[in-house]
Amino acid sequence: MADAAPDDLSPLQRKTLGLLRRSPDPVVFDPSFVATLRRDVEEAFDDFHDRLGDEQLFVSKHRLASVLGCEVQHLHDDAFTWSPAVAGGQVAHRAIQLLINWRGDPVPADVVDEAIARLADDDTSLGDWIAGLSEADLADLRGVAVDKLIKFQECFPPLDKRAAPTTESSVRWPIDGPIVLSGKVDLTLGRPAGAESRKVIVDLKTGWVAPRHREDLRFYALVETLRTQIPPRKLASFYLDAGEPVVEDVTERLLLSASRRMLDAVNAEIELRVEGREPVKRPGTSCRWCPLAADCDEGQAYLTGRRDDDGEPTDFD
Ligand code: SF4
Repeated sequence: MADAAPDDLSPLQRKTLGLLRRSPDPVVFDPSFVATLRRDVEEAFDDFHDRLGDEQLFVSKHRLASVLGCEVQHLHDDAFTWSPAVAGGQVAHRAIQLLINWRGDPVPADVVDEAIARLADDDTSLGDWIAGLSEADLADLRGVAVDKLIKFQECFPPLDKRAAPTTESSVRWPIDGPIVLSGKVDLTLGRPAGAESRKVIVDLKTGWVAPRHREDLRFYALVETLRTQIPPRKLASFYLDAGEPVVEDVTERLLLSASRRMLDAVNAEIELRVEGREPVKRPGTSCRWCPLAADCDEGQAYLTGRRDDDGEPTDFD
């Protein structure tokens, strides 16, 4: 996986390599398990199609987490706006993508500048936002992205091309139909060899550990299994600020649980958006940034309770 001798690696890079390395025993899933999983999802989708009517449903990891959280917040139409913190993550992802395929030993700030230039040229809301930034705002954005890129280099060894690293890889399943599961994977390493599972899916994170991050990766493992019929072998949420990965082996149980969660979320979306069910309030961590919090008794009670418990709200549930 690494494109460097072990002695050239830092302790952190060696630790990453050890956690993600394949064990001598090949991981091979039972093909009948995968076929049954796929058939069960297809049958559930057929039922959902009847209830959806003419509606289309694009299911992302964000949408799953949102509809399974507070449904009132989920349905609230909140216009998204870019900020240096959010855009910095996108720029860093683009920079990592360039870095992995860049020859030689590039300077992080140069890679980030190239990433910003390419994103500004894109015909997207982020491209428009970057193109309108002042020099000082650009410096802020550059600072956020360079910090993340350097942390990535500190945590990951140089990646060997034979490990088939890909970044920002789009995945979707099925190819068409009213319900489509989709996502963009931060980093993948390895690819299946025959029936052997070799792929590792990595989500790059800054900030706190949250249970949702693990669910996000399990959703990607499910999509990968449905589209290729070979599950990935490992999932890793990599917390760049702390230099710590949280790694999980993919198992049949994990895929079944991800499938149930996805189907529950699709069912809830149809109930709420097509069948008109009343949304349920579910106070939780998301009350902290909810635009409805000021007028929400349940949200205020939750936030006050947390302050009484431990002085001030935390990032953990
Ligand atoms: S404040 Fe909390 S409970 Fe109230 S709508 Fe927002 S997320 Fe839901």
